[in-house]
Amino acid sequence: MSAKSQQDNPAADAGPAKQFDVIIIGAGMSGMYQLHRLRELGLSVRVFEAGDGVGGTWYWNRYPGARFDSESYSYGYSFSEELLQEWEWSEHFSAQPETLRYLNFVADKFDLRRNIQFGSRVKSATYDEAGICWNVELEDGDNARARFLITAVGPLSAPTMPNIKARDSFRGESFHTGTWPHEPVDFTGKRVAVIGTGATGVQTIQEVAKTAGHLTVFQRSPNYCAPLHNSPIEAASQREIKASYPQIFAKCRASHGGFIHKADHRGALEVSPEEREAFLEKLYGEPGFGIWIGNFRDMFTDQKANDAVSEFIIKKIRARVKNPKVAEKLIPRDHGFGTRRVPLETNYYEVYNQDNVLLVDLNEAPIQRITPTGIETSAAVHEFDIIIHATGFDAVTGSFDRIDIRGEAGQKLKDKWADGPRTYLGLQIGGFPNLLTLVGPHNAATFCNIPRCIEQNVEWVTDLLRHVRDNDIKRVAPTLEAEDAWTEHVYQTAAALLFTKVDSWFMGINPNVPGKDKRTFLLYAGGAPAYREKCDEVAANGYEGFLLQ
Ligand code: NAP
Repeated sequence: MSAKSQQDNPAADAGPAKQFDVIIIGAGMSGMYQLHRLRELGLSVRVFEAGDGVGGTWYWNRYPGARFDSESYSYGYSFSEELLQEWEWSEHFSAQPETLRYLNFVADKFDLRRNIQFGSRVKSATYDEAGICWNVELEDGDNARARFLITAVGPLSAPTMPNIKARDSFRGESFHTGTWPHEPVDFTGKRVAVIGTGATGVQTIQEVAKTAGHLTVFQRSPNYCAPLHNSPIEAASQREIKASYPQIFAKCRASHGGFIHKADHRGALEVSPEEREAFLEKLYGEPGFGIWIGNFRDMFTDQKANDAVSEFIIKKIRARVKNPKVAEKLIPRDHGFGTRRVPLETNYYEVYNQDNVLLVDLNEAPIQRITPTGIETSAAVHEFDIIIHATGFDAVTGSFDRIDIRGEAGQKLKDKWADGPRTYLGLQIGGFPNLLTLVGPHNAATFCNIPRCIEQNVEWVTDLLRHVRDNDIKRVAPTLEAEDAWTEHVYQTAAALLFTKVDSWFMGINPNVPGKDKRTFLLYAGGAPAYREKCDEVAANGYEGFLLQ
């Protein structure tokens, strides 16, 4: 893969398909940065992006109330000091429109768009064993070939609609949060339904409740939510942030999940009840994920420690929701605090004190069907002007499943992963040479303040492809032993975590997707620092576990 190797590329004999050194699928945060880095290596790169603009998650998720749960200044790219100094976040937790503006600013600054083909959804990717390259076909029939294929498809980008009878019969407006229209939706005076109370539903509900004539929330499983405590970034803090980026990123680098928050060294039951209460109160009063990521060190592993924290949050829910019956419905009974993703909120619980908001507990009255005018449960018929599906995603592997990816001997990736993902470092898959999966399953980036781990993934892949280019290597594939060992390590690391006892997208559960009903672990829970160390060690040992030919 150099000017010379491009001419040598056997794929060049294959007719009219466009030829590249590398094809990247997706122009979200990982695809954009990967493009930038590979262009610096002098490689020819084409990015195929389904949307009409850059930004991935932040392009698609335009639903009301969408915003960061990570501190803005810990979320942006860290690779360019100039970019860090030029860009100003206006809030500690930026809202989606600002984040999308930021990503467009990055695309302009680094002139990324000239290598991105927008409106181009990839339909299939097939490995050509003789040509040692990938054939990529788009939904519009266009196709291209490249020595390497890099997926930058994001862990939460395959939206799933609820499997409710007659779902499409509704004659009012209906939206999924993950494919929200570009035009503003006016809720003023309207009768609105929200189905789903995950992180997305919570953000949507608290925003829509401000203007809707009437809002009905359909909740199947409540989640433990905690306050975001967002605020504007004043001029003095702006200067301070800009001056301390090295320290901010160093903090993220040292933490398990790439956040500025770090778990407390104490166990929840090692301290007195008064100390525990004071610590939890402090976390509850602070901005961001401290209450989740910076809590007692044993909260994720010790049921009793977890119970103590859950009790604290339950007390808060009871204090904030005036109607005790409604409060009880908002309290999770099937899992402990933090064992599913904690939605961060702003006055979420207070929404249920409003006269124009109704909570429908689907455990008491399940949805029977959607009708042309609303939603029918076993107990009542509700009429709506707008239905919002905040029903989540076919997480992590779902975006892969939606592309027909075939490796050696025509093996389908979807079949290989039918019982759960198998990868090496969450970056490569046995039987799928020259395919690299940024933020893929079993990659630390899936359980991370994601841009921090995206930068690690991209920089590691860039180093690998530099090595490939400099050594005239044509084929990179993991050994099956390396894949087995990594997969085993991923499951072992997760085994002690309370996450694994609970249904959630972390565990690959999505009742709306056939076949996604068995618990498997999609993330890597060993932590970003350990993951980075392992990746660096593999590279330092001549890409140990990979066959380079
Ligand atoms: P989610 O956490 O999977 O929540 C989906 C919700 O829809 C759940 O409450 C689910 O109920 C409900 N649901 C699904 N199908 C249903 C059906 N047929 N009938 C009734 N209810 C149904 O999805 P999400 O809220 O979109 O969040 C996904 C992830 O995106 C988050 O965990 C987070 O990582 C990310 N996110 C990040 C941010 C941010 O950074 N600011 C914001 C939003 C989301 P059950 O729980 O009972 O299945």
